[in-house]
Amino acid sequence: MKNIHLTPEPRTDLVQAMLKKPLEAKMFIGGEWCEAAGGQWLTTVDPATGQEIGRFPEAASEDVDRAVVAAAEAQPRWAETPPAERARILWRIAELMEAHIDELSELESLDQGKPLYVARWAEVLGAIAQFRFFAGQATAIEGKTIRPSITYQPEGKRVEAWTYREPVGVVAAIVPWNSPLVLTAMKLAPALAAGCAVCLKPAEDTSLSALRLAQLMQEAGLPDGVLNVVTGLGPKAGALLAAHHGIDKVAFTGSTETGRAIVESSKGNLKRVSLELGGKSPVILLEDADLTLAIKGAANAIFFNAGQVCVAGSRAYVHRSIYDRVLEGLATEANSLTLGHGLNPVTQMGPLVSVKQAERVSGFIERARQGGATVVAGGERLGPIGTFIQPTIIADVKPDMEIVREEVFGPVLVVQRFEDLDEVVAAANDSKYGLAASVWTESLSAAHRLSRRIKAGTIWINTHSMYDASLPIGGIKQSGYGRDSGIEALDNYLETKTVCAVL
Ligand code: ADP
Repeated sequence: MKNIHLTPEPRTDLVQAMLKKPLEAKMFIGGEWCEAAGGQWLTTVDPATGQEIGRFPEAASEDVDRAVVAAAEAQPRWAETPPAERARILWRIAELMEAHIDELSELESLDQGKPLYVARWAEVLGAIAQFRFFAGQATAIEGKTIRPSITYQPEGKRVEAWTYREPVGVVAAIVPWNSPLVLTAMKLAPALAAGCAVCLKPAEDTSLSALRLAQLMQEAGLPDGVLNVVTGLGPKAGALLAAHHGIDKVAFTGSTETGRAIVESSKGNLKRVSLELGGKSPVILLEDADLTLAIKGAANAIFFNAGQVCVAGSRAYVHRSIYDRVLEGLATEANSLTLGHGLNPVTQMGPLVSVKQAERVSGFIERARQGGATVVAGGERLGPIGTFIQPTIIADVKPDMEIVREEVFGPVLVVQRFEDLDEVVAAANDSKYGLAASVWTESLSAAHRLSRRIKAGTIWINTHSMYDASLPIGGIKQSGYGRDSGIEALDNYLETKTVCAVL
């Protein structure tokens, strides 16, 4: 377990070159590639080793203003572009991503740390699917005709009414570092399909793939200014966008704390906000669960992407009759995972994205240990700069402990036992979060009942973290509001205009 496979084996020219000399990337504003007005740069490192792999501009407020102006100028023309033409460009973006899939996957793996296969299947293919799905939606946006009951129209006339669905305008998309490409695509694709222009602020730890995507989007024929990528720090560039009066809507994915800050900043012009925030998702194993599936599934629900997933299944609730077997099985799964550099072919789990994140996660583990919990597997911080956290299983916890209540965002699972369905429903719902949950059972009746009773935006049955561009995803309670993905995601980027006419 302590042997970490640190040697990257990239195959694309881009990533091979980055390992020799850091990439110098520019921001994308109004169709031009530019440096920051203040001449400031940020650097990004390989999270497995700490080696610098790239630098990119740190946007100042002039840059944010320029991006907003460029988007505002481009948006009306984009909204007037025939929907079929918008669809054609979105589809072309998907095709170009597919043509560059090796490069995009390696770039994401190097910058974020995730294993190459995760970058390829979950991120790049997931992002492509978003562009394809919303290419289809661009031509399907429609209003309604309504027959009102108004009786006071002039004699001989009648009242007719109908609605238009119009783009909300200029959108700020602020995205996190855990799954940069797919989460970016979840905002860009519906926003562009709806006729909005976007100022994208990628996360400071993982800005490179967004910049590469912007190059491909330019090549696909997206008009200048319709997409602008402003790189920089969250509390600076991100906060400026969230507060900007030229922004009509913020689409955010990230932590609940930052989501709250964004809502605060948005007050000035009452811009629309949609938020996909944190979670502490329960994974419930009933006594009749198919354990060969359920144990592996529960392990995957937390260890996939090293637990840096908003819907990660971080609280397992196991029926007392199978508890010992499941706990032992989960520990075996945890101990069997191969840790390494995302670009090493044997790697099953990579490092966390940054030293800061690894420190945060190991702090949670330490405090759980000090509070009396048992670390059944893992628990250690490893690697040349300490960014690897062993897959960790924690038992003997109490419901009010921090490790049970707070989002860790790392490969750390707490396992608890339960006696009956009422008890597990109450425990699962005893959380400020409500993003997702999974139920593992062979009983159709229990699966249906629990999927009604558990308070979460998504319920998976006999699976976890299963995404598709057609499936809405988002939270209730402090996991946020609004839905990404699926037809419903268009609602984030459209306003309804009502026309009422006496004819
Ligand atoms: P983390 O704390 O794990 O880095 P965040 O939720 O803070 O996650 O980050 C998600 C995104 O939000 C990133 O792009 C980050 O730069 C941005 N961000 C951080 N703070 C703010 C803020 N105050 N206003 C707007 N965006 C922010």
